Amino acid sequence: MRPVLRPSVVLSTDPALYGDRTGFMTEQPSFDQRDGPRDECGIFGIYAPGKEVARLTYFALYALQHRGQESAGIAAADDGGFIITQRALGLVSQVFKEHDLRALDGDLAIGHVRYSTTGSSGWENSQPVHRTGSATSSGRELALAHNGNLTNAVELHAELRAQGVEFSSTSDSEIIAALIADDPSATIEESVRAIMPLLQGAFSTVVMTNERVVAFRDPAGVRPLVLGQIDDGYCVASESCALDIIGATYMRDVLPGEMVSIGADGIRTQMVIEGARKAFCLFEYIYFARPDSKMNGTVLQAARGRMGEALAREHPAPSADLVIAVPDSGNAAARGYARESGLPQDDGFVKNRYVARTFIQPGQELRKQGLRLKFNPLPEIVGGRKLVVVDDSIVRGNTTRQIVQMLREAGALEVHLRISAPPIRNPCYYGVDMSTREEMIAHGKTVEEIAEMLGADSLAYVSLEGVYGAIEGGPANHCDACFSGNYPLPVAEEGNKLALESELPMAPTSA
Ligand code: SF4
Repeated sequence: MRPVLRPSVVLSTDPALYGDRTGFMTEQPSFDQRDGPRDECGIFGIYAPGKEVARLTYFALYALQHRGQESAGIAAADDGGFIITQRALGLVSQVFKEHDLRALDGDLAIGHVRYSTTGSSGWENSQPVHRTGSATSSGRELALAHNGNLTNAVELHAELRAQGVEFSSTSDSEIIAALIADDPSATIEESVRAIMPLLQGAFSTVVMTNERVVAFRDPAGVRPLVLGQIDDGYCVASESCALDIIGATYMRDVLPGEMVSIGADGIRTQMVIEGARKAFCLFEYIYFARPDSKMNGTVLQAARGRMGEALAREHPAPSADLVIAVPDSGNAAARGYARESGLPQDDGFVKNRYVARTFIQPGQELRKQGLRLKFNPLPEIVGGRKLVVVDDSIVRGNTTRQIVQMLREAGALEVHLRISAPPIRNPCYYGVDMSTREEMIAHGKTVEEIAEMLGADSLAYVSLEGVYGAIEGGPANHCDACFSGNYPLPVAEEGNKLALESELPMAPTSA
């Protein structure tokens, strides 16, 4: 155990205190090109003495950036030392500089990238949550990162507040941190075991003390979590692509209901709760996860190609003469569609890959250009052609409508939309921001009505059976509620990601 050299601290990069070091606007802009479901969060944890754990965490988060672009954070500690946490609004590459990583070095670390699925997107809701237990409890100091959504967050929050527990954020993740920090059990593992049965909904979670990293997953396994090895150390991550980028080896998925504990004595695993059923998110395969990630043994790039093949079998477009993708989300499925249909495929758009999320308002003149900031059609490719246009999903339809219009302006003769997911008609209560039912273009409409609203010559969606065939799985151990309306776990009343904000006596700070 190393000597304790530094104080416990959260490096506050709250713009309200220090100005915005990332150069970001401190309010969410109204202009936002994204129209699809919002990715949830990405988490990472590592115990690897002798390695630059903060730097490895940084690059793991960099690989997980697609899962959340609102904030990023890392907590690190020497074995036996104090925990230092740094978090801020912005992308990973904007939040951390070289000197930050040096200050965060240690033997163990956890990290988080966030899109707000509960609570506002202010700094106080960024993670890792850093918390110390009350004097009457174990007084344990910890940092915690969470991906998912507790469906009983409001009830737990009210109970804890009635017991005098105070909160400094409005995210459900702080509830988990408070429960563990205040649990009187002697070890972090015993505390995790004690509080897991209190949580309902989706929670892939990693928590660290100054000597262990403990990861645990809800008994339905809604959100992903994988385990890896890096020389003598171990790590956990939302997706296997984060292991690849730091040179770690994928060992296996953390099982639903399992706890994995990593420390100086190596790795210990325990099944804490056997769930009534598994409910892995089907949308992870279709859209959320990176195509180079592997989930439940399936490489997503290959699975998405098979979804495109199923789409072509189920919904050919006899008059079409060219397949194009909406990049990048439709790339793999478009290749599959072309393969199965025998149609040629080409790039119909050039995508600006750096428009993940713009924080600069485009102004009146550029606003008219709309989606062109992100996609620019190629008239030389699409002009005079009858197109099959493949994308992975449609939520509200605003983007798709503009894509169809741009293709027509570029000279396309016909636009046949083919979607490698079934129609989305129901919101998600398990950690994904899907818009409300009323905002979904497929809500209460036939496919023909949707096609007309989008201005397409035809529209077709792959069936649920087609998706399950592509991943070689079935509904018994997956969640497909946003498509089918069959919710596998109890849900709170019409999900409201700001529900805790109305619970809290404090006004959330705008950040
Ligand atoms: S409702 Fe949809 S997005 Fe949410 S967990 Fe289920 S399949 Fe995934």
